[in-house]
Order: sequence, then structure tokens, then C-alpha cells
Amino acid sequence: MLTLALVLAALQQPAAPPPPPPAPALPPQVGDTSPFRRLALPSPTLLREGSGRAGPRYWQQRADYTIRASLDTATHVITGRETIRYSNNSPDTLTYLWLQLDQNIYRANSRGAALNPTDARFAGQGFEGGYTIEYVRALQRFGQAIGRAPLATTVNGTVMRAELDRPLPPGQNVTLELAYRFEVPEHGSDRMGRERFPGGWLYEIAQWYPRLAVYDDVRGWNTEQYLGQGEFYLEYGDFDVTITVPRSFVVAATGTLLNPLEVLTPTERARLAQALKSDTTVAVIAKTEVGQAFTRPVGGTPTRTWHYSAKSVRDVAWAAAPNFIWDASGYNGVLIQSLYPPEANAGWARSTEYARHSIKHYSEKWFRYPYPTAINVAGPVGGMEYPMIVFCGHRAGDRGLFGVTTHELGHQWFPMVVGSNERLYPWMDEGFNSFINIYSGLAFYHDTVGPGRSPAAQWARAAAAGRDQPPILAADRVNPALLGNVEYFKPAAGLYLLRHHIIDDTTRFDRAFREYIRRWAYKHPTPADFFRSMEDALGEDLSWFWRGWFYRTDVIDLAVDSVRVRQDSTGTTTRIFLASPGALPMPVDLRVTLANGSTEDVRLPVEIWWLGNHYVYERKFAADVVKVEIDPGQNFPDVRRENNVWTKP
Ligand SMILES: [Zn+2]
Repeated sequence: MLTLALVLAALQQPAAPPPPPPAPALPPQVGDTSPFRRLALPSPTLLREGSGRAGPRYWQQRADYTIRASLDTATHVITGRETIRYSNNSPDTLTYLWLQLDQNIYRANSRGAALNPTDARFAGQGFEGGYTIEYVRALQRFGQAIGRAPLATTVNGTVMRAELDRPLPPGQNVTLELAYRFEVPEHGSDRMGRERFPGGWLYEIAQWYPRLAVYDDVRGWNTEQYLGQGEFYLEYGDFDVTITVPRSFVVAATGTLLNPLEVLTPTERARLAQALKSDTTVAVIAKTEVGQAFTRPVGGTPTRTWHYSAKSVRDVAWAAAPNFIWDASGYNGVLIQSLYPPEANAGWARSTEYARHSIKHYSEKWFRYPYPTAINVAGPVGGMEYPMIVFCGHRAGDRGLFGVTTHELGHQWFPMVVGSNERLYPWMDEGFNSFINIYSGLAFYHDTVGPGRSPAAQWARAAAAGRDQPPILAADRVNPALLGNVEYFKPAAGLYLLRHHIIDDTTRFDRAFREYIRRWAYKHPTPADFFRSMEDALGEDLSWFWRGWFYRTDVIDLAVDSVRVRQDSTGTTTRIFLASPGALPMPVDLRVTLANGSTEDVRLPVEIWWLGNHYVYERKFAADVVKVEIDPGQNFPDVRRENNVWTKP
């Protein structure tokens, strides 16, 4: 019970101390979320340096191949025996090796078969095949013969692990011997295959021998499955290859033909010698001569063996048919060749001209072509590249044929010379190649880029429509419908934008891009190596651009919000309120029009956005400002142009 006395007693107790004054609010605590924060890349090491160079401890494995293969044109079966001399230059002792068995994508139960609709471009389109591996043996260890020790193997889809009978220490090598066979698919994922022409079967042969997977310092064994869309990652080495085909067939392959006396007629040898010295196209087998007996050397067995040697290449491919038209020319000691059936688009008569232009253009502009020959073959494959030889669709002609030829031959630089991982980083070969293709096409057609027609400006449409993914995605993770946009068009447009409109100095850009090619020729660069090498040679921190363009789908949207004037004793100052509501900042090209009719162009560097996405450009002009326009040349892929212009009301 509460009595009055108790209440009074309570009131007489000393009052509780007053609460302490509230602590001042803590300041906001945030990380660096600016688009200009440094791009997080793997820590530099003595293998891959902060400058973007391969460092003094850089190492790379090597695989040298000897392949003896024959093609049975009745069953379409290739039977081969190969030796692979594998040199372990890593600091690691290896107890097993991984090999790529790409043909296993055509097994009915393969992951590629499960993932690709039957009629998809990169599928086998119902064909069931795959490798039969007869044996895998160790022939030599550390240079000593060891008498054909069989090795245990485990196949996992398109890769196979071979257990070494003795560990392979650093600095040593082992020679494996494999015997294998497979049936050539008609549609080999649009990368190889065969097609029947009136004169007989035409074969385009690739992914045709078990190949060493790459063991590198960044990931160890690279064992990504061959699923169709993602291409390849291979070690460099020298190849000695023989290909046995029916006597009536003509073969074209990666490398130098070592036995022309056995497989070519005296006329063909003379024409090839003439072609090598000729700027213009010379017929080796003319259309009127195709398939005639005199085009093949007389006598001997029903088959002929063509023998090739190729140095410092990551792969070997070939084509064979009894009915090739064959023509050739020369550039700087390189034999340029085209082989196509009489049924090919008539435009193929210009293939050698297109190929010669491409090899010459890329050599003079970026890096000298290092191989003895460059061959374009017409067949069922729409467009695919291998060292020294490319396959382009026989239905292509005119500008379409030029485009696919200069693209596939541009791959001689990316990834054949600069040996990036195509399966993980398709933008580093397709994108860089598409970029150099732009200039090859402009040079061939004596063309220029019109206003608003630059690849960068054209990218704005795809970006605005959201037809975009981060190009850094692995090849098989890209939406097949967006592959061309994301891995070809966008990286090419980005480099074009960088060269012409961000760096805005083509000489400085070209020096840096050539430096990247030189530094990583015959090596295995990663994206970080490219970004670092470019920044090092350009003298720019481009974290903001690499992140927004290659790692994300950030868009560019530059805007003029308003214009105000201020009068004081010093005169009239104009304040132009700019904004960058898109997540990807850019330098700003402003065109200011004055009341007296004159215009003034101002470039504001990308650093105007360092403090945020609003910026006030303040100046005194000679007359009233009546119009302000951002990017009047339409050089930047701005996704909303309607906010780029302010006019005085
Ligand atoms: Zn390509």
C-alpha cells in the first residue's frame, strides 16, 4: 500500500544524477566505393610483375609433338600415333598430367551434348563419336629410354588424367606415346568437320590429337571441359606431323611442307616458288585443272603422306580434299595460300588478296607475322582459326568473306602469338582481334569512320538495350545470344574508345598495345597482366575504365543539368552544371555556343568526377552562352543523348 508518508519519503530522497549529455554522433564510416578506387588485381610477384611484365621467375611448360596420322576417307576415321615430349619448367614435381580429349564432346553422354540444343552452332548436331585411346605409355624419362611403360589413365569427359609411373621433377621431361582414333564429325561444333562436294569429301581437321592441358602458375592444371562455346588454351612447342591421305587428295596444314617432291607436281612446285615472290595471286591448281590426274604426282601407292614441321605454335590443324582450287602469293617471305572447292562462292577468287592484305596490315601495324605461311581454306566451318591456317565458310563472298578472313587471320596475333586462355578469357582473343580487325577493314576499303559511326558510338545501342554482360565472364558462361556483343564487339569498342577518345592519342595507345604484344608473345597473359602492362606503358591509372567496361555492365550517361550566370564586379561568370548519372564516368567533350555565333570546344578530363557525379564548370566567356552540348562528335557510347544538350530558353 502506498501511503502519503511513503510518497513523501520517496520525494525527499536525493534526485538521480542527470543523464550525461548525448555523445556527438559518429562521423559516417564508409569504404572507398568510388568508381576511381584502384582495381583489385592479384598481388604482383616475380612471375607476374606490377608493371604487367612477365617477371624473372616466370616459367611456362612446353609440349613438343610428333604425330603420325592417316585419314580413311571411306569411314572418315583418323588413326593417329603421337609422341609428346613434355618439359616441366615449373618449380613443382608432377605426379600426373592432364590431357585434352576434345572429341569426347561428341559422346552421347557428354556435358556439351547435355548443354547444347542438338542444332546449336557449337553442338555435334546429333553426331556420336569421341576418341578411342588405344594406349598411353611413357617412352622416355629425363631423356633416357624406359621401354614403353603403360600409364594408368582416368577420363573425365573431355579431359584425361595420366598417372606418371615416376614423379617428374622440375627441369626434367617425359615423353609420352599415345595411339588413338576417332570418326570425323560432319559438324564439329563449327570448329572442324567435313562436307561432301560433287568432287568428293572436303575435310577440315582440328581438335584431332590428344593435347596437353596447360599447367600454369595461376591455376595449376587448367582442366575446364570442352563444352563447345569456349575455345582453347594450349602450350607452345614444335610439331613434326605426317598426314596420310588418298593420292588424289591435296592437303593444307599448319607448318612448312617438308616433302614437296613427293606430294606436288613439278608444275605446282614452280608455281608456288613464283607465288612466294609475287604480290598478286598466282594459280597453283587453277579452276580448270581441279581434280584432274595431272595435278597429282604419278605412280606409287594409293596414298600419299604429307610431312610438315611447325615451330613455336600452340596447335596444328589441316584440311584435305580432292577438288581444291589452290592459289597463292607472297608477302615478306610468307607464303599466302587459299584452297577452296569450285562450288565455293565466286568471291573466293579474292581470298588470297584478302589474306595477304591482312597479314601485311597486322604485321606493319602491330607485330611482325612470325610464321612461314598463312592459309585460308573454304569449307563447312563458318570461321575458325588455327596457327598458320584458318577455315572460312565456302558460302561467304565479297565483304563477308573479307570480314571473316581478316578476323580469322587476326587470330594469328591473338591467341596464336599472344597465348591467352580463350576458354576463360574470350575477350582477350576475340575482343583484341575484333579491335585490330577494325583498322584492317578501314585500310582495305580506304574507308574512314564517319561521325557517330565509331564502334564505341555504335555500342551505345547494345548498352542502352541491356544486351550486355561483363566481358570478363568465362566463355561458356556467356549467354550464347550475346556472345558476339559481349566478347567481340564490346571489348573492341572499348579499346577503340580508349585509343581515340579517352587517351585521345593514337601514338601513345599503339606503343602501349604493341608493348603488351611483345611482352606476352608466346606466353600466357592473364587479364591483370594486360591491364597492368597497358597502364605502365600509357602512364595512366585506368582502374575506373577496366572495372566499368570489362568487369561490369556500367553505362555512360553524361548530362548538362543547367546553366546559370553570375554578375559581379569582375564581370559575368557562366556556371555549367554537369552530371554523370551512369556508373561509368568519362572525360567530357563540351561544345559551348555563344550569342555571337562562335563556338568553343572544351575537354574536361575524367578527373572532374573524382568528388562525385556532379561537377560545375565555371568560366567567363566572351558573350552570352546560348547552347551547351556534351560529346557533339558522338564519340562516346552515351546511352541517353537527350540530356546532353542545354539551350538557352
Ligand atoms: Zn574469332
